[in-house]
Amino acid sequence: MPELPEVEITARRLDRAVRGATVESALAPGMVTMKTFDPPLDTLAGREITAVRRIGKMPVVELGDLALLVHLMSAGRLAVFDKRASLRDRASRLLVRLDDGRELRLREFGTQQRAWAKLLATGAVEEDEAVATLGPEAWPSLPLEAFATLIDRPRHLHSLLRDQRTIAGIGRSWVDEILWETELSPFRQGSDLDEAAVARLRIACEQVLDRAITHYEEVVGDSVPDKAPMPLKVHARQGEPCPRCGATLEAVFFRDYVTTYCPAEQTGGRVLKDRRLSRLLK
Ligand SMILES: [Zn+2]
Repeated sequence: MPELPEVEITARRLDRAVRGATVESALAPGMVTMKTFDPPLDTLAGREITAVRRIGKMPVVELGDLALLVHLMSAGRLAVFDKRASLRDRASRLLVRLDDGRELRLREFGTQQRAWAKLLATGAVEEDEAVATLGPEAWPSLPLEAFATLIDRPRHLHSLLRDQRTIAGIGRSWVDEILWETELSPFRQGSDLDEAAVARLRIACEQVLDRAITHYEEVVGDSVPDKAPMPLKVHARQGEPCPRCGATLEAVFFRDYVTTYCPAEQTGGRVLKDRRLSRLLK
């Protein structure tokens, strides 16, 4: 699931690969991919890609005064290929064919078709609902006062930090790393934190995301693999020893994801209830 670091490296690599390339044609084989109809996709023919950047977890492909805002959801990937996709490739959701034979392709794995794109005026991207409702970017870091205001809410840190309207870019993988780094329980309330904990959390957000991006800069070549080489220390490693203290990492399982934590350092030794089971037993 691409989060801020994965989308950042994707945008950097795509920018390097396709900036200056000219679009030959664009089409969306996935009938539900495009969330806008005016201007139509074929307006892009003949245009030059001027930049690829990132907003929150969304890549943005700029073509002069038009821009494609892409939401990858959980299983979408945006990449450039040397050859065009077979029309039988059912993962293809959006194809931007370049006049040098390459193709910028949005693919989505699995059966759900949830990834989407919008073709907008470049100057209107920030006003689009998907962007305007985002909180400030999680990386680079916010001033302490602004961060403290965002966190001061009576909500579990695990859901608060993943809420894109609160702070943009963090998802289910990196939130575990950030909370482990800060030695805070995923189920502590944001409004319960003292000043020192808020300050630690802010630094951890910055450092964890920054280290991930630095790691990708070192290991990712010209294109980002579908499964990014995520340098995760605790997420989804339940049952393994905590890399800092050696205690066995525990997890809380939700319907479609998992929260991993170190009970010795994050929850005062308590093993948290399994939400999946407690829901069944209700
Ligand atoms: Zn530990």
